[in-house]
Amino acid sequence: MTLQIYNTLSREKEVFKPLEKGKVKMYVCGPTVYNFIHIGNARPIIVFDTVRRYLTYRGYDVQFVSNFTDVDDKLIRAAEELKLTVPEVADRFIGAYFDDVDRLNVAKASVNPRVTENMADIITFIEQLIEKGFAYESAGDVYFRSKKFEGYGKLSNQPMDELQHGIRVEANDRKEDQLDFTLWKNAKPGEINWESPWGKGRPGWHIECSALARKYLGDTIDIHAGGQDLIFPHHEDEIAQSEALTGKTFARYWMHNGFLNIDGEKMSKSLGNFITLHDVLKDHDPNVIRFFMLSVHYRRPISLSDATLEDAKNGLDRLKTAYQNIDYRIVNAEEDDVNELEHDDWLEQLTELKQQFEDEMDDDFNTANAITAFHELAKRANIYLTKEKVSIAVMREFLSMMRLFAEVLGLKLEESKSVGLDDGEIDELIEERQVAKNERNFDRADEIRDLLKEKGVILEDTAHGTRWKRG
Ligand code: AMP
Ligand code: ZN
Repeated sequence: MTLQIYNTLSREKEVFKPLEKGKVKMYVCGPTVYNFIHIGNARPIIVFDTVRRYLTYRGYDVQFVSNFTDVDDKLIRAAEELKLTVPEVADRFIGAYFDDVDRLNVAKASVNPRVTENMADIITFIEQLIEKGFAYESAGDVYFRSKKFEGYGKLSNQPMDELQHGIRVEANDRKEDQLDFTLWKNAKPGEINWESPWGKGRPGWHIECSALARKYLGDTIDIHAGGQDLIFPHHEDEIAQSEALTGKTFARYWMHNGFLNIDGEKMSKSLGNFITLHDVLKDHDPNVIRFFMLSVHYRRPISLSDATLEDAKNGLDRLKTAYQNIDYRIVNAEEDDVNELEHDDWLEQLTELKQQFEDEMDDDFNTANAITAFHELAKRANIYLTKEKVSIAVMREFLSMMRLFAEVLGLKLEESKSVGLDDGEIDELIEERQVAKNERNFDRADEIRDLLKEKGVILEDTAHGTRWKRG
């Protein structure tokens, strides 16, 4: 099958064909770093990391850009409350963000541009929109003329007259039209600000993504992604800004994840029904959180509760147990246990399951059904192990297939006990890692480093040996 992606813009599944053969340019709207992210925010992070993993598995070279909104009203308020500067607040929560998402096995972006470090590009973008007549200055603010952009409303599928009825923003007499949106905001006295042709101020929210996507990926990108609530106005406004400026298609495939709900309601900071990812990870294995998020198709709602997390834990445990049982049988196989003949049928079954897994992922990244194929693989492994004589070759194939599926989904199958390690155990593992390194067995050495990291132990290799600390 060929990979198909549901495109919010066309409201249908489309065959995926990147602009440039073998390359994918992907942009995911990142967090506003004024606080810890909540577990709802972790959904797009895990989902689009998995999309990226699968594209990489399919042989694409993926350039992945995700921004940090490091200045806005919320950061300014947080800075006042915490008695810090705005950049200090941003640094603190960018650090916390990486601590959390690293544990979820989320790969680092190619670039995580920060708004405040790209101010010149943002200002130039706005200047060019003014030159083209798509934006105007008004009392130190700059606004975008929404109606002048012909396709305004195409992503959220709202015709102009509906949009006009739907306006709920407070009337602002600096705007020519209430549908216009802010590109640049005049600074209030004492507020953090940047010099611009329109006086001291800071950018509106939408412009940063248009400017940063263009700077790091070019005029046209392949995939633009975020949660459903970003479709309007954020992504609609990004399209207007970018396409008004370049005259080219901004993003070819628009992907939006559904909401994570708690007690039937969207988890959100404003409703106050949120649990930070940081807190969730205190009580739950990050691997289980990841498995939970992928157990439902990304466009559908997902419900967080003790019961759904427990189901995820049990599901993942079943996969891990099958994996470990096979591994154990290989390590402990005796000669009269083994029959290397007559295993073609099993290898064929494995190939079919791999195909099934890929078909499901090709179908708009249906991780829920891909996990079903994974369970089927584990079930067959368990059946295989009941045979009196087994083939090492077949068992190795089972292991490598399970590892492959796990890698695509970003899951870990090796046992990770939730109990902490004591100092002696840590020292032993570090010694084992040193031996592995001396033997140039770097895979094992990396595995040990990752295992320790999962337990919150950070290694530092120095000229005098390896030092460690608890993170
Ligand atoms: P925000 O901090 O609200 O800008 O959200 C950051 C990202 O998380 C955006 O892609 C949102 O669409 C997404 N998001 C926010 N709340 C939820 C939720 N309850 N479920 C899924 N995604 C969410
Ligand atoms: Zn954005």
